[in-house]
Amino acid sequence: MPSIYQYSKEELRSLLGSEPSYRVDQLWHGLWNEARSLEEITTISKALRARLVEQFPNSLTAVNDVASDHGATRKWVFQLEDGETIETVLMHYDERVTVCVSSQAGCAMGCTFCATGQAGFSGQLSVGQVIEQVMFATRAAAPSRLSNVVFMGMGEPLANYATTVEVIRRLHDYRGLSARHLTVSTVGVAPAIERLAHEGLPLTLAVSLHAANDETRNELVPLNRRYPLERLHRACATWIEVTGRRLSFEWALIDGVNDTESAIDELADYALDLNAHVNLIPLNPTPGYLVRGSSSERVHEFREGLSERGVNVTVRNTRGRSIAAACGQLAQVTNGKRRSIPVRSA
Ligand code: SAH
Ligand code: SF4
Repeated sequence: MPSIYQYSKEELRSLLGSEPSYRVDQLWHGLWNEARSLEEITTISKALRARLVEQFPNSLTAVNDVASDHGATRKWVFQLEDGETIETVLMHYDERVTVCVSSQAGCAMGCTFCATGQAGFSGQLSVGQVIEQVMFATRAAAPSRLSNVVFMGMGEPLANYATTVEVIRRLHDYRGLSARHLTVSTVGVAPAIERLAHEGLPLTLAVSLHAANDETRNELVPLNRRYPLERLHRACATWIEVTGRRLSFEWALIDGVNDTESAIDELADYALDLNAHVNLIPLNPTPGYLVRGSSSERVHEFREGLSERGVNVTVRNTRGRSIAAACGQLAQVTNGKRRSIPVRSA
């Protein structure tokens, strides 16, 4: 049986056909408003709780739990029923608490600098499995309130389109998260971006650009061969036009590859034309990609260069590198199928 978070309220109502309606309301309130696990929903009887726990076992089992940044960053490895593993990262900042969720087990996109891409694809996640990551993190964050959900863990959210859309809808409708607090990061699946624009969903879109000339982007992001920069530009323009929202570009700075002066010019042209925000990420180390991230001086110069050209730009500070929890580092496995990254203690 799938996770209890797989179901809408109406579906739960019919699944629990013999229970009175107020019972379903209590269950729903406990699950969604209070983010409680089934065992903790004490407003319903012990007997019903026991029955539900048996009928809807958790779809995620935490098999590893590591912390760094003095406890401000925490990463879990979850095992799915089929033995595959995924990772989820919780980050406490001064003004917000963010969970970074996986949308797939692994990823089929094969970006060369990303550990998830190097390790390959093993399966799609269900709505319940993504929501359970959020709820697990919500409970772990307490007493702080989990405020933001970002789809920047394992996988390409727009290659698991229906699940991503449904998860966003539910987090908005049932948890009250708004567009500013829900971010989907995509490698640039152009037709899916256009389709997403028309869903009327409350979300912020981040596009992982990394290069603004096709030759370099083909090397870093193989999907660029299918949807080159001009095609991606059209999709981004549609997003902005239809949703009325700005989007941001992610750019992992790689020494000598995409941190050059010409890269600044190319990126500035591309971003200014779409009035997009640029997020620079110092490249995080991965085992399968033998280049270095740009030096902190170069990151600074790159940012200044963009800024001088009028681009709205920020540098994202890296969290959880020491526990392989940072962007692009998620590939931990326990079933031996995918490559594993050694985890050092913080
Ligand atoms: N598949 C989606 C979301 C998951 S990856 C996407 O690609 O956007 C989340 C972010 O981490 C993306 O911006 C991705 O480009 C970035 N990333 C991947 N590998 C990285 C690395 N080694 N260092 C820094 N960022 C990386
Ligand atoms: Fe997949 Fe994103 Fe990694 Fe590319 S960067 S391989 S799309 S997870």
